[in-house]
Amino acid sequence: MTAKVTLVGAGPGGRGLLTLAGAAAIEQADAVVFDRLVDESILDLIPAGAVRVNVGKENNHHPVPQEQINEILVQLAREGKNVVRLKGGDCYLFGRGGEECEYLRASGVPFAVIPGVTSALAAPAFAGIPVTHRDFCSSVHIITAHARAGKPLQIDFNSLVRLRGTLVFLMGLTALEQVMDGLLAAHIAPDMPAAVIENGTRGIQRKVVATVSVLADKARAAGLKSPALIIVGEVCALSDKLDWFTPLPLHGKTIIVTRPRARAGTLANRLHALGANVVEAPCIETVQRTDVQPLADALAQKHDWAVFTSPAGVHAAVHALGKLGRDLRALYGMRFAVIGRGTADALADYGLAADLVPVQYDGTHLAHALAAAMPQGGAALLLRAAAGGQVLPETLLDAGVRVTDVPLYDTVYRCAKADALRIMLEQNAADVVTFTSVSTVEGFVRAVGAADYTGFTALCIGEQTAGAARRYGMHVKTAENATIDAMIDALGMED
Ligand code: SAH
Repeated sequence: MTAKVTLVGAGPGGRGLLTLAGAAAIEQADAVVFDRLVDESILDLIPAGAVRVNVGKENNHHPVPQEQINEILVQLAREGKNVVRLKGGDCYLFGRGGEECEYLRASGVPFAVIPGVTSALAAPAFAGIPVTHRDFCSSVHIITAHARAGKPLQIDFNSLVRLRGTLVFLMGLTALEQVMDGLLAAHIAPDMPAAVIENGTRGIQRKVVATVSVLADKARAAGLKSPALIIVGEVCALSDKLDWFTPLPLHGKTIIVTRPRARAGTLANRLHALGANVVEAPCIETVQRTDVQPLADALAQKHDWAVFTSPAGVHAAVHALGKLGRDLRALYGMRFAVIGRGTADALADYGLAADLVPVQYDGTHLAHALAAAMPQGGAALLLRAAAGGQVLPETLLDAGVRVTDVPLYDTVYRCAKADALRIMLEQNAADVVTFTSVSTVEGFVRAVGAADYTGFTALCIGEQTAGAARRYGMHVKTAENATIDAMIDALGMED
């Protein structure tokens, strides 16, 4: 592929608001140069081996000057890399994307531009404000209200007010009073509805809606901070009526998901769909065992049931069989038991149906259901983690079942987001931390180190996980069953 730079608009920050083309470009990148406003969930898409360059700009503080960013892009492209330049919102809207492309053109570096969802339109949509509406206005204007230090705003307020359209001001929080005064001086109706939207589209979005005459006072009183935009116009009067985001059941809650990435997706997506601000911070990783001899030995004996206790176990079994030069047909004749629906889904990905799923998704219920389904003196082949709990094999043995426990993978405590987690805990920024196994509790505790674990609710799947969380002094809520629905139900009840 020709080395080139692709400018990608990363969207306004809310989960899922990156375009498909943008995601594909990031996944193929050798180097990614990104800004401060680009959301972590998007940075998670950057391939592990790719170069990451953070050129994030703080307000009034430019760690990397624009000329240097331009030069970084050209340098990386000349090294033959496929470069993605990731910018918040849309690349060309107040993002200096135009300047970067001019420099690339002058340097002879081919480039492409993938537009993004701009905060100017998306944040109002998440705040219940349609930027145009036939009953109110027929135009929307996007204006920068960035004031150079100590200088007055360069905005022609008279012309703006005369347009009678919706006005959206970006980069305007510092100059909020100046913007409102400018509009009032240009004879906008003092009771014209307006709003400030902070962190638009993110789970932590906040908004203040008021008339132009009092908006600045109210927004300051609420302590709204950057990133935020100002929107002015009659459409703002619809903000309550058309608000669909704030009423979501988990709106305003920041929830940390600690399970490994491959399995975090569904839980994180569901929590997000319910309005939560989801932070994915996997605290454990699974590592396949290289020694597959125990599996080879086990396959030489006859077993009635193969038992899987996690999706990772299913994938590890397929992988280990592959290393033996075999495949899932090596389990031919056995019936399949799984601990829960997630594991059944993992089997289904290989075209296999689970024969047994216990009513309650834990080791004890699985063992009892399995023992009841076994022939007298039957044998079970456990294909699972090396450090799997003892409840399952012991309960099976007690019930007279022969057990072969094959360790297929190890769970290692590794967390790339440890620093971010520590800061969140210090700032009391997490409402809930989800734990889906004892090992996620251990991984989390190791990642954050000696910290106060009482500032959040530990939402745990099953009693064993809850016990581990309680040992660290966490406030625990326990999901009745290992389903996302049960976890969400548990959030609403006192433990
Ligand atoms: N290119 C970006 C805008 C860059 S200017 C875009 O298209 O969205 C940066 C300004 O965008 C911030 O000062 C703020 O006014 C606004 N902004 C960015 N993300 C925002 C968000 N999630 N909510 C509200 N305003 C946001």
